[in-house]
Amino acid sequence: DLPALGIDIGGTKVAGGVVAPDGTVLATARRATPGASVSETEDAIVAVVEELALRHGGPLVGVGVGAAGWFDRTGDTVLFSPHLAWRNSTLRQDLTGRLQRPMWVGNDADAAAWAEYRYGAAAGADLALMITLGTGIGGGIVMDGRLQRGSHGVAGEWGHMRVVPDGRLCACGNRGCWEQYASGTALGQTAREVARNSPAAAALLLERVGGHADRLTGEDVAKAAADGDPLALELLAEVGSWLGQGIADLAAVLDPEVVVIGGGVSVLGEMLLGPARGRLERALPGRGFRPGPRIVAARLGAQAGLVGAADLVRTAVAEGTA
Ligand code: BGC
Ligand code: ZN
Repeated sequence: DLPALGIDIGGTKVAGGVVAPDGTVLATARRATPGASVSETEDAIVAVVEELALRHGGPLVGVGVGAAGWFDRTGDTVLFSPHLAWRNSTLRQDLTGRLQRPMWVGNDADAAAWAEYRYGAAAGADLALMITLGTGIGGGIVMDGRLQRGSHGVAGEWGHMRVVPDGRLCACGNRGCWEQYASGTALGQTAREVARNSPAAAALLLERVGGHADRLTGEDVAKAAADGDPLALELLAEVGSWLGQGIADLAAVLDPEVVVIGGGVSVLGEMLLGPARGRLERALPGRGFRPGPRIVAARLGAQAGLVGAADLVRTAVAEGTA
């Protein structure tokens, strides 16, 4: 019953934790993600693992790594990552060589989905979807008690569904992807557009960044919303509405019991989820004649990814696949 290390690599940060078998996080560490370089990203992962192993002191089951990238089914290769440098990269082999520990390596949002199923808001659900809101939108599917990864390993990448024909340019190379309208990045982008076009309406937001509209980020909007800034709340409601529309579309395809919202942006809670539920009610195909999914906040919050990665390496060791 040893703890495992869980690592979550997002677009901006590498977060790690020592996680007990019951999902309790015993210690955490973090570094910025040097996203432009594969080797520097690996260095950051190794640094977080070494720091946590040292602080923990005792034996560990292994290291689980959930990364914001698209993995093949074996987990050996990161095929692609919209926000990081991986292109057909041998992440698992590189890390195993350097860490010499049993490993699970896979998608960050898959790990978060697993954590919420095992310990959180999706416990017991027969079909649960995870949506992580951060730099982009990540996704994970747990059905019949198993993570579902698709025929090639890349199921659940609904951040790249086209929701606006010829819309905003996305890091994946397409235009109009869902994550361009409903993520932390989208929140910042919309705020910058509004501040440039109607600076008077955005006066309170602009005060936070010394009047420079180009410096506004999703985080600034989140802070302003928490302080009750009406424009910030409106921007959040807009992002929440895009979220609800996407969930209505996912419900048409997959009919999940519960949709869990995690990632950094999910700390905004009801300011985001309220508008998302409202839009889902108005947009669910067949509404009024069929049940829809529940939309709930991740119970493990922004730690879901690292908690899930830790449990997945525990499972992989038990099944002999680590
Ligand atoms: C990627 C996901 C990732 C997410 C992170 C998306 O663009 O497709 O794999 O989980 O960004 O925010
Ligand atoms: Zn895209």
